[in-house]
Amino acid sequence: MNTLRKYDYLIVGAGLFGATFANRAKANGKKVLVIDKRPNVAGNIYTEEVEGINVHKYGAHIFHTNNKDVWQFVNGFAEFNRFTNSPVANYKGELYSLPFNMYTFNKMWGVTTPEQAEKKIEEQRKSAGITEPQNLEEQAISLVGKDIYEKLIKGYTEKQWGRACTELPPFIIKRLPVRLTFDNNYFNALYQGIPVGGYTKMVENMLEGIEVRLNTDYLADKKELDKLAEKVIYTGAIDAYFDYKLGALEYRSVRFETEVLDIPNFQGNAAVNYTDRETPWTRIIEHKWFEFGTQPKTVISREYSSEWKKGDEPYYPVNDEKNGELFKEYKKLAEKERGVIFGGRLGEYKYYDMDQVIASALELCKTELK
Ligand code: UDP
Repeated sequence: MNTLRKYDYLIVGAGLFGATFANRAKANGKKVLVIDKRPNVAGNIYTEEVEGINVHKYGAHIFHTNNKDVWQFVNGFAEFNRFTNSPVANYKGELYSLPFNMYTFNKMWGVTTPEQAEKKIEEQRKSAGITEPQNLEEQAISLVGKDIYEKLIKGYTEKQWGRACTELPPFIIKRLPVRLTFDNNYFNALYQGIPVGGYTKMVENMLEGIEVRLNTDYLADKKELDKLAEKVIYTGAIDAYFDYKLGALEYRSVRFETEVLDIPNFQGNAAVNYTDRETPWTRIIEHKWFEFGTQPKTVISREYSSEWKKGDEPYYPVNDEKNGELFKEYKKLAEKERGVIFGGRLGEYKYYDMDQVIASALELCKTELK
């Protein structure tokens, strides 16, 4: 062991993966330094107060999990409210409940019982002739039928991913539940909520007592920073780490147009998805409803999805076959990189939810912090 090194771990990225690992490492007596190129901690779950409202600066984040260990872990750093995600879909002025449930089926077809809804879906599935769904379109039609696919999935998905539904992997649409009950809860999770006071505060609590250097770009100063610690936990984009030498992985980026409105209630819900192809934004978030706000004003963000290019913030990995193959090659390089561990949505190029990021960091702690 090189005793000159000041820290056991240099953690690159103060998002959820980095903050979780840092917290456990410190608790296990390790010396850790967390760096982040942004001027703030919390990565893409960063929230900022505007007009007394916690604004989800990098897109809406609703914490939900079935993992009791993860739930207990986050509850150690924040109190969670009872927010339940129930987005509304707006298709050319027609409003539908999400996820797909009896309210959606009733509005779409006039059916009133689960049996009628099932029959309708089955009819549409049969006439499409799909047995083994090969892509998102086939998967969607076999789950909910052609009408719902056309009005609530096709346009939204093509805007969100910038690709035809026939070119996207089926698993993306399987994130959404289909229910023959009148349950508007978007997630099939036992535990759900928003940290009272915002995610930034929660991450700050995770990082309490830990040295954090902001505005510090690891890749720009890698040689010097590497000298500081025995090991590096890298949570940035894996292809960026290797200077894109095998080519760039594809990501989707998101742009937000945020407005303060001098009215107390703009859309009556935290999220409204615009599922037609023509509306240029994918959804509008009204941030106050995540915390049942009673402020006199409101803050809304229109969300626009775009193809990532160098210099943009990457948000979503495009987990199709082509990128999967390229990622495998990067992973091989990563495995050869001594003393560096890659983690998180960008480090593992995986469409992780927050709870999965935490679970994966806690898993790493088991082997790393023995
Ligand atoms: N989706 C859709 N219509 C909607 C909402 C979602 O077709 O109104 C599809 C779309 O392909 C999207 C996927 O379901 O990428 C997953 O949606 P989710 O809400 O989980 O995405 P996230 O919140 O991570 O952006």
